[in-house]
Amino acid sequence: MKTKDNQKQPRLNIWSYLRHYKGPIFLYIIASLIAAAASVVNTIYLANLIEIITKPNFLMPAIYCLLIVIGISIFQRICWYLTNVIYYKYSNKIMMDLNMDLSKQAFKLNSKTFNDHNTGSFVQRIIEDPATIVDNLATIIDVVADIITGIVILGYITFLNIWVSLCLIAIIIVAALIENKRLKVYRKNRLIIKEKNDKLHSLTTEIVRSEKDIKSLGLETKLYEVSKNYYEDYRSTRYKTDLKDVNLWSSRNFIIGVGTLLILILGIWLLDKGLMTLAAFMILYSNRDSLWSVIRGLGNISNILVRINVCHNRMFSLFDENEYVTEKFGNKHFDKLNGIIEFKNVSFTYKEYDYKESKNKKDKNKKLKILKSKNTIFKKLSFTIEPNKTVAFVGKSGSGKSTILNLLSKMYEADSGKILIDGHDIRTLDKQTLRSTISLVNQFPYIFDMTIKENLLLAKFDATDEEINYTIKQSALKEFIDTLPNGINTKVGESGIKLSGGQKQRLAIARALLRNSSILIFDESTSSLDNFAQNDIKKTIDNLKGSSTIVIVAHRLSTIKDVDKIFFLDNGKIIDEGTFEELFNRNEKFKTMFLAENI
Ligand code: ADP
Repeated sequence: MKTKDNQKQPRLNIWSYLRHYKGPIFLYIIASLIAAAASVVNTIYLANLIEIITKPNFLMPAIYCLLIVIGISIFQRICWYLTNVIYYKYSNKIMMDLNMDLSKQAFKLNSKTFNDHNTGSFVQRIIEDPATIVDNLATIIDVVADIITGIVILGYITFLNIWVSLCLIAIIIVAALIENKRLKVYRKNRLIIKEKNDKLHSLTTEIVRSEKDIKSLGLETKLYEVSKNYYEDYRSTRYKTDLKDVNLWSSRNFIIGVGTLLILILGIWLLDKGLMTLAAFMILYSNRDSLWSVIRGLGNISNILVRINVCHNRMFSLFDENEYVTEKFGNKHFDKLNGIIEFKNVSFTYKEYDYKESKNKKDKNKKLKILKSKNTIFKKLSFTIEPNKTVAFVGKSGSGKSTILNLLSKMYEADSGKILIDGHDIRTLDKQTLRSTISLVNQFPYIFDMTIKENLLLAKFDATDEEINYTIKQSALKEFIDTLPNGINTKVGESGIKLSGGQKQRLAIARALLRNSSILIFDESTSSLDNFAQNDIKKTIDNLKGSSTIVIVAHRLSTIKDVDKIFFLDNGKIIDEGTFEELFNRNEKFKTMFLAENI
């Protein structure tokens, strides 16, 4: 037995991602600031130019001044080019680092977490939120550079006249008060819109996935209505929230507009009274938008910070154990286990939670977990499966058969009691031991958009052609593959769309067989096979008998006639166990079920 622990601490904020690219980011900031400084210097030289041309003998000094202005402009454009190159190169790198870490984290989440959250919330957190953050971070630097330029120019204008300066300060204070109110509203609305966006995404994914069911059930109109309602809700929420935002933006802009006019009137008055030079007035006039750019810049930056904050919290919530629960493994490692399975007093309840924003300011990034509903499936369930035996769980639909398989493969964790393999609690086994010991063929196996061979190689990267051919024969796939022009190298389409239900299941069985695990689990895996294919699979399972522990949840009782033991489940309890003959002869319920199936 070996012990392994190679868990790495996750990076939990955006700064830890930016740190890797300190050099280029520093260069980006410097280039942006130099470009901003160039604007300021240009403004001052332009002011000089105005001064120069109002005096006699201005030709040569004016040309000299113009040359400097043009030189600075060219230099400024070079800086902008540099910032763009850095941005395109490193924003993609940072985004990829985030995408990869978030995807990796998604792989660590337990199955229950995937059940509890919609697809949209994952897609948005892994793909959309990082993109929003990275785009906005670059904008922040640009806007900061703009603001600095604006402030320096305004400083220069106020240096020219104290009255203009006082007037400017008054306008900035009023605009900032309105802006503060707008931001509070904006943050709240941003969160609401993001959550609605998650739902829209999930709905679209669901529609694409269920396209055939929609057509066969004639659900197009109904689903069109459902989508319309979702979009309507999204649109009207956006409209209402945007309108509130626009109203506050407009009030702020109105104040700035009136303020600018007042400043210019003040300038003309000062000019008239001889308290301001014509050059100073021209500078004030030509830079009148600097006031706008400072206040607008501050507003934009606050918006961007809110957007980053919302996406940042959502994105890193994937690391919040409270809401996105990860799989936990022990550290016991075994190269091979024999496959003795024991359930000892196992209890399990499906619980559904709601997640709400905490009102407590300290915990505002954490969501409150509120129990919405629960459904107890097992109370103190116990049974043992001997190694290399083939057993089946049967019972009415909903009696808990699939849940047993999910608990055994640790897709779900028991609330109490123990699940043991070879006497080891499965919680103490490391991931590799547990996963390699158990191979699971789901009710609806996922087949990847690759060739048949590539799908098989996923189970064992180094499988030889002999092994693959042998598995294909064992899982009754050979006849079908021989009819394909490209044989084993045929592409099967997204989620195996080009295969029939039976072919998909046989491919999934072949994939599981290649892993050569001690425990093989088939969850109703013969449900969509025709009688011939079913017999082939039955033969396959019969062939495997004695070499692995096989656990089957069978759709049809006739397929499990030859298993070593049947556990007969009713409402989460094992009400009988024995061979097919034993149950058929002594258990009326079992007999009725079998006969009903064979009418
Ligand atoms: P079977 O495989 O025998 O048809 P299952 O184990 O799938 O039964 O389901 C047992 C019970 O658990 C059913 O009542 C079902 O509705 C419930 N159930 C199954 N999966 C979930 C889930 N992910 N969340 C909540 N309840 C579930």
